[in-house]
Amino acid sequence: MGLNRIACAFGKHKVDREGVKRAGGQQVGRCRNCKTPLEEIEPHNWAAMRVKDAGLGRRAIY
Ligand SMILES: [Zn+2]
Repeated sequence: MGLNRIACAFGKHKVDREGVKRAGGQQVGRCRNCKTPLEEIEPHNWAAMRVKDAGLGRRAIY
């Protein structure tokens, strides 16, 4: 118990195959364990999606 979460902490997410969708020629899904949005950067190679939060990040400084 908890091992999956540790893997997630190291960026080794497990995509939920049933939730995979195609978006703009790319496959996107969510991690089965932590629900992090994932994108398929290479075939069978999933990575956490880069959230476009430049505005939010800037706001966090204040
Ligand atoms: Zn995860």
